[in-house]
Amino acid sequence: MQRLSADTLPNDHPTVAVAGICYDGQSSFMPGAAGAPDRIRAAYHSDSTNQCCENGFDLANVDWFADAGNRRPGPGGNWRAEIEGFAAELLSRRMRTIFLGGDHSISYPLVRAHADSYADLTILHLDAHADLYDSFAGSRYSNACPFARIMEENLAQKLIQAGIRTLTPHQREQADRWNVEVCEMKDRRSFKLPQSRTPLYLSLDLDVLDPAFAPGVSHPEPGGYSTREVVDIIQAIDAPLIGADIVEYNPLKDPTGITALVAVKLLKEIAAKMVEV
Ligand code: MN
Ligand code: MN
Repeated sequence: MQRLSADTLPNDHPTVAVAGICYDGQSSFMPGAAGAPDRIRAAYHSDSTNQCCENGFDLANVDWFADAGNRRPGPGGNWRAEIEGFAAELLSRRMRTIFLGGDHSISYPLVRAHADSYADLTILHLDAHADLYDSFAGSRYSNACPFARIMEENLAQKLIQAGIRTLTPHQREQADRWNVEVCEMKDRRSFKLPQSRTPLYLSLDLDVLDPAFAPGVSHPEPGGYSTREVVDIIQAIDAPLIGADIVEYNPLKDPTGITALVAVKLLKEIAAKMVEV
């Protein structure tokens, strides 16, 4: 990945960027995800693997893939505005960005910025958890709440969730309220990707994977997808993938580094998909 500074970001053609959001201030169980972006980058650059995507792109040798650096929002109340502003800046340069969290609370400001650029957004949300709580542990902006905020603000025309395996009665009510298409893990065989050609934003919480595949997360939930199944879902997307986040990687839970490599694998496949349509 080529290093980009603000004044060298290209203005003339769409580019896929990686950007880190070092923020875990809304993690409802344990901190650590703020350290994720640099650990994922280190795994990306590790000699243990290469930068080739399965479709043949070598990300080390393309001119459309770049690193837009990190943002580390402060602990105060401005974190949402900071994240939204950063995403808006990249969108204004016609970037399709893969944001590396961070806890899942960052998806609300990220989607807010994308909704400003794309009126008819569909969101594909892969997660063990629906993250639809109205409020959690006293916060409406917790990592358990981003999709409640997104839907009540009408930021997406459709929200499709897959991999879900922890629905509470409250979250079922919330899903009904906004007509969220929830494909629970137990029903995965009937999961269908969105068929429309409208812009798609992918929000990928790494705990959608089974902890056997991705143990390095703050909220491991057994009974999830394999790495291969998530790669298959990404590769099957047939819509313009205009933004994405990979969240909830927690380096403190990943002593072997295997979950960082899973994040890298998904990052590469998402990047390849972003330039396809
Ligand atoms: Mn989540
Ligand atoms: Mn989750």
